[in-house]
Amino acid sequence: MNNKIKKIIILGGMLLSGILFVLGFTNADAEITIKKKDNRQEIKTEKTVKAEKTVETAKTLEKAKTGKAVKRKGWYTAKSGRKYYYKADGTPVKNRAYRINGNLYLFSKSGILCTKPGFKTLNGKRYYLRKNGTLAVGYRKIGDDYYYFSKTGVMYKNRWAYARGYKFYFGKNGKRLTDVDAVLGKRSSYSIEVNKTKNTVTIYAKDGNKGYTIPVKTFVCSTGDSTPTGVFSTPYKYRWLGLVGPCWGQWCTQIQGNYLFHSECYTEPNDNNSLDVAEYNKIGTTCSHGCIRLRAGDAKWIYDNCSLGTKVTIFTSNKNGPFPKPTEKKLKSWHTWDPTDPDMMYKCRQSGCRH
Ligand SMILES: [Zn+2]
Repeated sequence: MNNKIKKIIILGGMLLSGILFVLGFTNADAEITIKKKDNRQEIKTEKTVKAEKTVETAKTLEKAKTGKAVKRKGWYTAKSGRKYYYKADGTPVKNRAYRINGNLYLFSKSGILCTKPGFKTLNGKRYYLRKNGTLAVGYRKIGDDYYYFSKTGVMYKNRWAYARGYKFYFGKNGKRLTDVDAVLGKRSSYSIEVNKTKNTVTIYAKDGNKGYTIPVKTFVCSTGDSTPTGVFSTPYKYRWLGLVGPCWGQWCTQIQGNYLFHSECYTEPNDNNSLDVAEYNKIGTTCSHGCIRLRAGDAKWIYDNCSLGTKVTIFTSNKNGPFPKPTEKKLKSWHTWDPTDPDMMYKCRQSGCRH
């Protein structure tokens, strides 16, 4: 074959394949050769392939929604930055608290890991998310308050819990109560502990065989250098009593000898409108002649609730008690009555003062 004939054949071939190419490109239903797994070839039209792809995509989306076909395991971070967790069987954790490697996490209804610190409600249960992204468990101080969270991170509400050797009550908002008198109701016996160093009086109630481990409330008081330490049993009570000064005290409960629990001092006998305001304003400091001075309402509580023979333990310690020491506002010199005295509260109402 000579070169001229070769050239013609080649050019002719190129022209023909060009025509075929154009035809193929414009034909929407062109045939496509698909290589199958077993190396057999299958011929499908472009339309068929497109339709099949659409069905496949829908299936994938549907499976992703139900979470059945996505075989993810462990942590997964989506493009949005949201985190998810998949169990070993590929199902995502959602709508619950879930423990992973010893840490408790919270997952929303749609399975998103909750990361914003603070309180969070899920299915009517309260949780607290810490700054490190894990849920609070057990006895925790948050802000100025104490809370209790179960092993699964659920905040305790309206129930008791043991913590640090005590039995505490957590109220309707989850906060630990620092006065459980109303929850407990009146008890047949109490135990009184006086911390001379801190000038606090804490009342305890009995928790069955565990003993007096329920802190009921803490009063602020004033002890004196000569206040005796030790364990005592209250022998006597006096509604009013003349004291060193001279002055007069209300709701007096004898501890031993000349040492008593009583109200702050009044300058006139049996006159609850003659409060020694300067002395009252020292409450919480060590300033008495040895007696344990209390606010009138607190002295009354002991007088009313603690029967004779109540155990009183007086000690010195720098350790804080179960409840914080109450702080008392200072009174103006004209306020010649104790604002906690139930018989004098009308004077506070008349004066419009707030305590
Ligand atoms: Zn007042």
